[in-house]
Amino acid sequence: MKRKKNIAIVAHDNRKKDIMEWVSFNWKELAQHDLICTGTTGKMVEEALAESCHKHGTVPPTVTRLKSGPLGGDQQLGAMICEGNIDMLIFFWDPMQPQPHDVDVKALLRITVLYNIPTASNRSTADFMVTSELFHEQYDPIIKDYREYIARDVNMA
Ligand code: PGA
Repeated sequence: MKRKKNIAIVAHDNRKKDIMEWVSFNWKELAQHDLICTGTTGKMVEEALAESCHKHGTVPPTVTRLKSGPLGGDQQLGAMICEGNIDMLIFFWDPMQPQPHDVDVKALLRITVLYNIPTASNRSTADFMVTSELFHEQYDPIIKDYREYIARDVNMA
């Protein structure tokens, strides 16, 4: 991944307040990267960043808004990870309430492990991520070699 990263941000409804506080607190770090969000989270992230950036006379970063999570946004992010278009994920998921798209959430989290994508599910992990030296450096995550798996013999008997 390059110095300028594609950072995905998602928050379930009960965690949107947390993510907004975190984004506002870290606006300076985030403004140096491209942000990709699920629909509703993206709208709120855009507003929070615009407010912070205007206060400090800087240009807010691009926020790409996908579909809302329950309408396929999490799956869009999963596909972007498979295609190498997401470098890290900040995903404040709700530990207290089942979601209509629980299976999509699980699929997204699975794909982050498969592709070795740095992922934060809470504010402290997200804080460690943005303050890491690597946050503004080039970094190449090691991806497991799946060639053997792809070339495997499938028993058709
Ligand atoms: P939202 O989706 O940003 O559109 O609310 C988040 C989610 O529930 O995955």
